[in-house]
Order: sequence, then structure tokens, then C-alpha cells
Amino acid sequence: MSNFRLSKTSLLRLKQCHPQLCIVVTRAIQICGIDFMVGCGIRTIEEQRANVEKGVSKTLASKHLPQADGMSHAVDLWPWVNGRIPWEDWPAFEEIAKAMLTAADELGVNLRWGGDWNRNGRSDDERFLDGPHFELVGAL
Ligand SMILES: [Zn+2]
Repeated sequence: MSNFRLSKTSLLRLKQCHPQLCIVVTRAIQICGIDFMVGCGIRTIEEQRANVEKGVSKTLASKHLPQADGMSHAVDLWPWVNGRIPWEDWPAFEEIAKAMLTAADELGVNLRWGGDWNRNGRSDDERFLDGPHFELVGAL
């Protein structure tokens, strides 16, 4: 168990995420070797369009958008190390992914990491590596 806890901001950003995503994130923070925060949960189509224009997102079919159940099926997690987000530190994102995927396996949740799109599916996916991004896959 680590001493890390989700901040109020992180909990707020998790609010409109699918419960399966919430339980995985809640478990992951307990077993993760580094601290992290929830950077983004649900997104409006306007926000997503702006992200695509900026080049930080590549699709308008993002799982951050409200899905059929009205919730986000994706979450972005940002490492929090020494009071900042180390964007250039890929191993930090991997560390979070390790905790997230372990938690997902424990809880029987089918989860895909943006840093490894090939896990759980679509090897034809040509989206860029998206270290902070996690999404639910398959039937829920
Ligand atoms: Zn994302």
C-alpha cells in the first residue's frame, strides 16, 4: 500500500466517469509507486474538437465524450512528482499504467492504456501513444 490518496480535484474529475473506471483508479492509487492525479474525465464535444485542433487528440470519437450511458469511459492520469507533472518522464506514465492494469486485472475490468493500444484489441489502431490515457473496452 502506498500513502497516496486521490485529491478532491481528482475525485471531482472522476465524477462523471463509469463506475468501473472509478474503482480501478481508486485501487491503482493504493498500489502505485508514484503519486498521480486525474487530469481529465468527461469532455464535451466542444472541448474534444478544440483538443483535435490543438493536436493533443486525434479523434472526435473519444471515449471521454459522454457515452450511451451518459458517462465517460476514459480517464487521463497525470503523474505528480516533486510538485509538478513530469510530462517528459515516460517511465512515470508506465509506472501508473502498471498500477492501473494490475488493478484492472484484480477487479476483472477490461482496460486499455493509451501507451499500449495493442493490449486488449485493435492492433490496427494507429493512434499516437497517449501515456496519460486509459479507457474501458468491450461490453460493460
Ligand atoms: Zn484521454
